[in-house]
Amino acid sequence: METSHSLKIVIVGAGLGGLAAAVALSGSGHRVTVFEATKELVTASAGIQVPPPSTRILRSWGLEDALESKITKPKTFAFRSYDDGRLLGAIPLNPFCEQRYGAQWWCVHRMDYLKVLFEEAVRRGTSIKLDHRVIGVDLNMPAVTVQTKDSTRTCEADLIIGADGVRSYTRAALLGEADPGLRPSSICAYRALVPQSAMNAHEQRKSFMDPANANVDVWLGSGHLVLAYPVRSGLDAQYNLVLVHPEKDDHTEHDLPPRFPRPASIPEVSAHYVDFCADVKSILSQVVGEDESDYWIEQTALARKDGILEWKLSDLDELPTWSSFNGRVIVIGDASHAQRPYMSAGASTAVEDAVALAEFLKADNIAQYGLKKLIDAFVALRKPRTSKLQRLSAADSACWSLDHGLAQARRDALLVHLGDEDRQECALAMAQLKDEGIGEFNFGHADVMDWAWGYDVAKEAKEVIEMMAS
Ligand SMILES: Cc1cc2nc3c(=O)[nH]c(=O)nc-3n(C[C@H](O)[C@H](O)[C@H](O)COP(=O)(O)OP(=O)(O)OC[C@H]3O[C@@H](n4cnc5c(N)ncnc54)[C@H](O)[C@@H]3O)c2cc1C
Repeated sequence: METSHSLKIVIVGAGLGGLAAAVALSGSGHRVTVFEATKELVTASAGIQVPPPSTRILRSWGLEDALESKITKPKTFAFRSYDDGRLLGAIPLNPFCEQRYGAQWWCVHRMDYLKVLFEEAVRRGTSIKLDHRVIGVDLNMPAVTVQTKDSTRTCEADLIIGADGVRSYTRAALLGEADPGLRPSSICAYRALVPQSAMNAHEQRKSFMDPANANVDVWLGSGHLVLAYPVRSGLDAQYNLVLVHPEKDDHTEHDLPPRFPRPASIPEVSAHYVDFCADVKSILSQVVGEDESDYWIEQTALARKDGILEWKLSDLDELPTWSSFNGRVIVIGDASHAQRPYMSAGASTAVEDAVALAEFLKADNIAQYGLKKLIDAFVALRKPRTSKLQRLSAADSACWSLDHGLAQARRDALLVHLGDEDRQECALAMAQLKDEGIGEFNFGHADVMDWAWGYDVAKEAKEVIEMMAS
């Protein structure tokens, strides 16, 4: 419901973070317009894991039914040895997450997730303008300059939210020289899908698609790993793969400069995983390319080889601030806290940002505290959590990719504790890994799980607001 304290809000970017913010803020009675540079909703990859803090939110928005036929609910997150596929240790996911954290763990195709958010945002009154690229941000007015195929215009707002991803234009405008920019790592990832028909055609692959027995499986090799899970159901079901490997420094064999994302061929992908077990090789023999809707292919006019894209993982250092001096321009999601994917939390924290913002920007709060104070409180709540996740994720990336040898063997031996009923045993084993100098295994650490997945952002934001009142 609109009130005298309903804001005119512009969101830059219709990715998962921008659309989640549109849903949350339209739902709080604000007038929201989203400008998205691309011509259509884009996936830019295949599957995504949705951990409890964001499934809790999706449920609270009433979107569980719309997603029900699209999601899979993995039983465990299973770490396997790369060469013989043996189980090293498994983190329980479903029904464990519901029992312990009050919300499930889902896997979903990004396009399904985006579409559901898009439709809900529109249903709640958001205006979404595709093919509208933001090419200017005025921090003072504040206003954005938007370019379309035919025109360029300025659009003023009470609040501008940059949800424009890792290479955020809004962040650059907000921080100027203080923008740390992306720090490319030397780790790359191919992303690919296998259709269910190809998975089911072979006994060796079929079990990975069984909805009653779905898992997130990760085969850990030296510098290489394969992370996989099924998405969608029935005839539409697919097996989603993320294939992590060191960047190849010899680019001469490619007919393109090393610009990411870039297309890769099936032989190139397979060559990275020749010493992996038969299950992985059997699955890799069936990969197909990303969705036709992948906008990078269209935008960069890159030749489609076998349709697989290779991405480079990058880090973003903690920003000095997420908001402008007047609190009227802010950045959220990857624009403010991009992280490596090892904690499965990048998109999830973008959705948390959205809900926190909407809680802070309720009409009563605006009337009582004014926008600037609320934006400051929002940043103060969110920044420590996302900075910690950035750090935890970067640390995991090293420990998941240990070279063959004693440290890897010791890690593998300790991973057996991941599924311990006695969660203290699990926490102790992960602490031991760290103490012995092998590395951090944060994703499976019982205490980290409780901290990361037990989080209820709406509750946290409400508590801050109550404290502001007292
Ligand atoms: C290999 C890999 C696996 C991952 N797995 C997971 C996972 O399992 N779970 C999880 O939670 N996270 C995961 N992540 C992280 C997740 O993908 C990101 O954190 C998330 O997509 C960020 O969403 P966003 O909306 O902030 O940014 P984006 O999704 O990048 O969206 C930004 C949008 O802004 C638009 N845009 C950019 N510039 C402009 C402009 N100037 N004007 C208008 N529009 C603009 C873009 O076109 C785009 O649509 C993974 C990441 C990687 C690389």
